[in-house]
Amino acid sequence: MTRRALISGAGIAGSTLAWQLAGRGWDVTVVEKATGQRSSGNPVDVRDDALRIVEGMGVGDRIRAAATSVQRLVLVDRDGRRVAAVPASAVGGSKQSVEVPRAELAGVLLDAAATRADVRFDDAIAAIEQSATGVTVEFESGGTGDYDLVVGSDGQHSRVRALEFGAEERFAHRLGMFVGTVSAPGAEVDPADMVMLGVPGRSFSLHPSNGIPIGAFIFHSDREYDHRDAAQPAQIVTHAYAGLGWRVPEFVERFIAADDVYFDAVTQIRLDSWSTGRVGLLGDAASSVSLFGDGSSLAIVGARTLADAVAAHPDDPATAFSEYERRHRMLVAPKQRGVRTAAGQVVPRTALGLGTRNLVLRIMHMTRMQSTPLVE
Ligand SMILES: Cc1cc2nc3c(=O)[nH]c(=O)nc-3n(C[C@H](O)[C@H](O)[C@H](O)COP(=O)(O)OP(=O)(O)OC[C@H]3O[C@@H](n4cnc5c(N)ncnc54)[C@H](O)[C@@H]3O)c2cc1C
Repeated sequence: MTRRALISGAGIAGSTLAWQLAGRGWDVTVVEKATGQRSSGNPVDVRDDALRIVEGMGVGDRIRAAATSVQRLVLVDRDGRRVAAVPASAVGGSKQSVEVPRAELAGVLLDAAATRADVRFDDAIAAIEQSATGVTVEFESGGTGDYDLVVGSDGQHSRVRALEFGAEERFAHRLGMFVGTVSAPGAEVDPADMVMLGVPGRSFSLHPSNGIPIGAFIFHSDREYDHRDAAQPAQIVTHAYAGLGWRVPEFVERFIAADDVYFDAVTQIRLDSWSTGRVGLLGDAASSVSLFGDGSSLAIVGARTLADAVAAHPDDPATAFSEYERRHRMLVAPKQRGVRTAAGQVVPRTALGLGTRNLVLRIMHMTRMQSTPLVE
């Protein structure tokens, strides 16, 4: 008997799970609300176990081919004057990690999923009804379907979570920051340098990516934000970045004009349980760590863990979900705890914090590279 799974969200978690579950003999449908692949998002690291998993999916070469080739992190002040430059290796990355634009990673995983699963764009789950033997789902497009289990990998603002677990406010813990990114085809950059402007409470970074540069605004702010209000991102970014020089005005303009930007409040998602009966959550929907916590690698590893658990308990989704949760929580919990420190280091709130961060970077570089001269 072929068992049927429905996955909501064709992001990094959902596509990985679709490929993994279909490979274990499941009939998998993925429903994605976007009309096609998205182009926005900062580069992310695929590291350690996540890298081994994507290699096992046969897409390691494509991911390595899409890798960025940043060699230096250059720090500039509000007018674009250079204050420090250190090799990228001084601030992260390892032999066991590949930095790749989020959109490319999601695209490669989606292509892999589509070879084994039915991927439907421009649709979403409207209602879920569970019984002892299955789950009946109604779609926004009007149809219905019956499944053995349903997984919500539909991101921070998960619909599946809202339908089966409750309102987002109960689980969302905002960190008092926002992140916005915009792709900038044709923007002039040095392909070897990621350049970051830092002033207290705000950063703007320009990443060469692998050909299409990406501008990222990351800043502290406690202002109200409703992700359903499409006008807010442009207003918030314009307001937050007023008065800064260098290339900030150019990229604020690009952000306002682009039709595919990423923008969200930096948030952790925390729930006491990631499943209820035959419905479970994965990736950001279950446990967003926020942008400072390796969310993409965790999403890939979580998808593999869930697929293994489902394969081990094919007729008992509840047990499969709790087995996956028991194992994956051990990875997620320490990442969630470490995020506040990381946030303060990436975007220091004060001039003193900023100066200290820059000094620490220089010292880290000197201690690692004692025998070679400073880049600057
Ligand atoms: C376009 C985009 C850009 C991003 N850029 C950044 C970034 O710059 N910095 C950062 O920290 N994080 C970013 N993220 C989030 C980051 O990708 C995740 O934190 C991480 O990769 C975990 O992945 P995920 O698959 O759980 O969630 P996501 O990558 O968020 O994927 C969720 C998927 O579900 C889809 N979806 C949402 N709601 C529904 C619904 N109701 N029905 C069906 N499908 C739905 C979304 O369109 C998306 O494809 C971005 C996410 C997206 C979608």
